[in-house]
Amino acid sequence: MTKDKVTELQDIVSHCKKLGFIYQSSEVYGGLSAVYDYGPYGVLLKNNLKEYWWKAMVQMHENIVGLDAAIFMDPKTWKASGHVDAFNDPLIDNKDSKKRYRADQLIEDYIQNKIQKKIDKDVAKGQKRFGESFDKVQFLSTDKRSLDRQAKIDSILNRMNKALNAGDLADVKQLIIDLDIVCPHSGSKNWTDVRQFNLMFSTQGGGATSDDVLYLRPETAQGIFVNFLNVWNTSRQKIPFGIAQIGKAFRNEIVARQFIFRMREFEQMEMQFFVKPGEQKQFYDYWKAFRMRWHLALGTPQDNLRFHEHETLAHYADAALDIEYNFPFGFKELEGIHSRTDFDLKAHQDLSGKKLQVQDVESKESYVPFVVETSIGCDRMFLAILSQAYQIDEAPDAKGVMKERVVLKLPPALAPVKCAVLPVVRVNEALTQKARAIFNEIKYSFNCQYDEKDAIGRRYRRQDQLGTPYCITIDEQTIEDNTVTIRERDSMQQERIDVTMVEKIVSERVDIRNLLKQL
Ligand code: ATP
Repeated sequence: MTKDKVTELQDIVSHCKKLGFIYQSSEVYGGLSAVYDYGPYGVLLKNNLKEYWWKAMVQMHENIVGLDAAIFMDPKTWKASGHVDAFNDPLIDNKDSKKRYRADQLIEDYIQNKIQKKIDKDVAKGQKRFGESFDKVQFLSTDKRSLDRQAKIDSILNRMNKALNAGDLADVKQLIIDLDIVCPHSGSKNWTDVRQFNLMFSTQGGGATSDDVLYLRPETAQGIFVNFLNVWNTSRQKIPFGIAQIGKAFRNEIVARQFIFRMREFEQMEMQFFVKPGEQKQFYDYWKAFRMRWHLALGTPQDNLRFHEHETLAHYADAALDIEYNFPFGFKELEGIHSRTDFDLKAHQDLSGKKLQVQDVESKESYVPFVVETSIGCDRMFLAILSQAYQIDEAPDAKGVMKERVVLKLPPALAPVKCAVLPVVRVNEALTQKARAIFNEIKYSFNCQYDEKDAIGRRYRRQDQLGTPYCITIDEQTIEDNTVTIRERDSMQQERIDVTMVEKIVSERVDIRNLLKQL
């Protein structure tokens, strides 16, 4: 396998477009930035991912129920949640290049490129000079130059965080000026003031007055919080229990890069677990372990996943971590697990004036439950599974010469097409008729494709690129003894089986229960 190719994001983007997994939105008009459409195979894979999540969370947990809340909500929801006042990015424009940046990212990039890199260089020099005996920790805690540089980093970050927390945008700008930060495009220091930019998209409601502003939800979670009491009253659940939801969310991301990693319209799979105050830690630990098992069951190597505990917590959280995946551009957040205390329910209770409380069975006291949340982006998960599945290995061509093969080694339960039915040649009507009959029989059980065009080797390659785990080939022998070959995508091994076994064998091997049973 040529590993360097596997890690290129551009290869995955091209593959997605070429095969019909993902297209850029409104491409005929030049493409809408950070918005994407899922094509014929993309929608199948995405639906399978959602099914895996839904079944693992809702079907496998007696104490989790589902919800499908609307995208539009009463605007007060976003006031209570803090999104109207605090869901902001500090932005700055360069007047010469007309490019817009997140002020905090400009400062962080400065730290990385102008200071941290120098520290790393000295460490590398030390390692080269002293080899095995070099003690990095000791070096960093004693080397005067490195200590001075680290102190400078700490003082910049301190000042930036203080200014951001106090909403002192003038000082954020002053910091950019004091550090002599230039625009990466124009090299100029001709900056505008720093402004707060709200990440929520808004639109007018039916009345079209200025009070009538509606927001496109920036997260699905709030639909769960405001329905908490409805679900509690109607589902016969007791604390602890959870509400799960899959749905669209919208964020006006300023720096939208890296394909479907950061989009303006995306899908979230979120679950809010309501617990008795004081019991949040035990459920936080449960969900942390369970969600990691969910990822590992897909065959993702442990090395490509890691926990990243948050050192600084949002004001509403008493614990938070990310599950990070090693994307082609490095380890980045794939999923968040947050212990959100009673912040959200309390905020809605205060603003709405409605009690969002339950009664303790023993003490009969009423309380606002605490919440542990798991939140994963469906699109980010799509990119993670595709980055892992996209591989280049070798397969023999018609003359037996080994050639590069692009293959999506997707878990069979997630593959868009489970099985392709291929008559070995199309000129032989007996074969094509038999193949059609098999296709028509098995299509009730799973998604399959009939393909008779091109040489058989090319058809195998086509299915490999889609990630189809099984190919059924109908040949002369099929007519004689009612057997076919079944080819497995990764090993390319072929086995001869009776036609009557096709449906059973493929069904068993692509069954989503194979994943769920590992949880
Ligand atoms: P980031 O720090 O990368 O902006 P976040 O911490 O704001 O992410 P959350 O608000 O915790 O993200 O959202 C939960 C999940 O939703 C994320 O882990 C991610 O998988 C997904 N997500 C968030 N923003 C986007 C986006 N713009 N495009 C695609 N997925 C997203």
